[in-house]
Amino acid sequence: MPLKSLTINGFKSFADKTTIEFTSGITGIVGPNGSGKSNITEAIRWVMGEQSAKSLRGAHMPDIIFAGSALRSALNRAEVTLTFDNSDQTLKTEQKAVEITRRLYRDGSSEFLFNHHHCRLRDITDLFVDSGLGKEAFAIISQGRVEQVFNSKPEDRRTIIEEAAGVFKYKQQKKQAENELATTNENLNRIADIVSELA
Ligand code: ATP
Repeated sequence: MPLKSLTINGFKSFADKTTIEFTSGITGIVGPNGSGKSNITEAIRWVMGEQSAKSLRGAHMPDIIFAGSALRSALNRAEVTLTFDNSDQTLKTEQKAVEITRRLYRDGSSEFLFNHHHCRLRDITDLFVDSGLGKEAFAIISQGRVEQVFNSKPEDRRTIIEEAAGVFKYKQQKKQAENELATTNENLNRIADIVSELA
C-alpha cells in the first residue's frame, strides 16, 4: 500500500503548509541538525493517533503547534494529512484512496477526519490494525528505538518481539476475553443465588 503524500500545516517547525509527495522508490529526507527531519516522522505518528505528548518530545499535546519564531508569531492550530493508495485493500475499508487528517487547537480541542468526514480516534486506530502501520508499528523506527531494543530487559524485549510478530494483540484480546468471562461468571453466580432464594 503506497504512501502518497503528507501535508503538514502548523505542526512543530512547519509553520507553512508543506506537502511531501512520496513517489515510487525510496524517498530520502536530508537536512542540517534541527531542520525538522524528526518532526516529519512525528507528524506521521501523530496523524495515525499518537496520544503521548512525551513521545513527541513535548510536555503537553498543544506543544506540537508551531510556537512562533523571531520572525513569525505562534499559530493556534496544527493540521496533518496523510494520503494512501489503498488499491490493494491493505486498510480495512473499501475506499481506494484513503486520506486521514488530524487537527489540534491551542485550547486542546481536536478533530480526526477520514476522507473529509469527521470520525473518532478509535476509527483511525481500527483502520491500521493488522496493516503493519499505526503509531506503534515497526514501520516507523524513531531515534533511540534501536538502542532501546538492545538495552531493554529480556522480558521487555520479548514484548517488543511479540508486538512485531503480531502476537501481542492476541494476548491483549485474550486478557480482555478472560476479564469478560470472569464478569459473566460473577453475574451467573448472582443469578443462581437469586434463583435459589426465590425457589
Ligand atoms: P537532528 O538531525 O539533530 O536530529 P532534525 O532535523 O531531526 O534534527 P527536529 O528534531 O525534527 O530536527 O526539529 C527540531 C526543530 O523543531 C527545533 O529547531 C525546534 O525548535 C523546532 N520545533 C519543535 N517544536 C516546535 C514548535 N512547537 N514550534 C516551532 N518549532 C518547533
